[in-house]
Amino acid sequence: MYRAKRGGKARCEVSDPAMHANAVKRLKLETDLRKAFDQGEFRVFYQPIVSLKTGKITGFEALTRWQRPEGVVPPGEFITVAEEIGLIIPMNRQLRLEACQRLQAWQAEFAANPPLSMSVNITPKEFAQPDLASEIGTALKHIGFNPACLQLEIIETIAMGDTEKSGQVLAQLKALGVRLSIDDFGTGYSSLSRLRKIPVDTLKIDRAFIMNMDTDSESREIVRIIIMLAHNLGLKVVAEGTETEEHIKLLKALDCEMAQGYSYSRPADDKAMLKLLESNRSASAASAGN
Ligand code: C2E
Ligand code: MG
Ligand code: MG
Repeated sequence: MYRAKRGGKARCEVSDPAMHANAVKRLKLETDLRKAFDQGEFRVFYQPIVSLKTGKITGFEALTRWQRPEGVVPPGEFITVAEEIGLIIPMNRQLRLEACQRLQAWQAEFAANPPLSMSVNITPKEFAQPDLASEIGTALKHIGFNPACLQLEIIETIAMGDTEKSGQVLAQLKALGVRLSIDDFGTGYSSLSRLRKIPVDTLKIDRAFIMNMDTDSESREIVRIIIMLAHNLGLKVVAEGTETEEHIKLLKALDCEMAQGYSYSRPADDKAMLKLLESNRSASAASAGN
């Protein structure tokens, strides 16, 4: 049934034993996910976003992990299903609240100018919810969170979807005072004229380009052009998936503002982030003393 629906609805598909096994597996995953949500098995991990100029942490991206008794499940294995069954909506609502409250605690302890920010991912299904902006606005007011410190990451194909509707949603979100980022930029086929019209603040260059930058001149050229384009439009750039010193060196030379990747830290829990923030502070105190 799912395959027929995916193929464009009102179609029929012949079922075979392998498909049956897949359907059973999928049904089990759906049931497990719902149960996991009710039992509070989802954890928020964080990954720092670092200024390439100062080397200091400017903010974090909040990323879901599913803590099962047998081990941690990465989001690639369940986000799509959570999205398809609509569970992503309460999941992400909860994640945003937890991540924003965590950031408030860090902001109180680690003053920075501008203050530390938190990035969260908005999925296509959430983006299609008519009350998304009002729900986020109410939650931020409720906890007294400065909207300017929240970055909403929206993947390129959704953010730059050429419809009046997507433009309206972006405008409603922007009116809350939050920042908007285009996630995984470079992978979609977006029209550049549209980029000029939508109210985004940041482009996050997809990891696929960064990964190959040091060995492949074409990837390097794409990264250079994206950074140039972003700067011409007054946008900031985050390079995703920086893994090596060479990546960092090349990105600095291209005037990229920020980086996020294993070269700084893998996504990890709040305790690990607290340690990073502490060492970040002592590093800057040491350099101020020099
Ligand atoms: P994303 O938003 O593009 O997040 C960045 C992903 O790149 C994360 O994978 C992160 O672990 C990975 N990454 C960061 N640096 C490196 C690096 O140097 N090398 C490599 N190889 N990978 C790196 P993760 O956590 O597995 O998340 C995958 C995707 O799942 C995310 O991509 C995001 O689209 C989605 N996702 C994760 N958590 C959530 C969530 O809570 N809500 C929503 N809506 N989506 C989520
Ligand atoms: Mg993201
Ligand atoms: Mg991304």
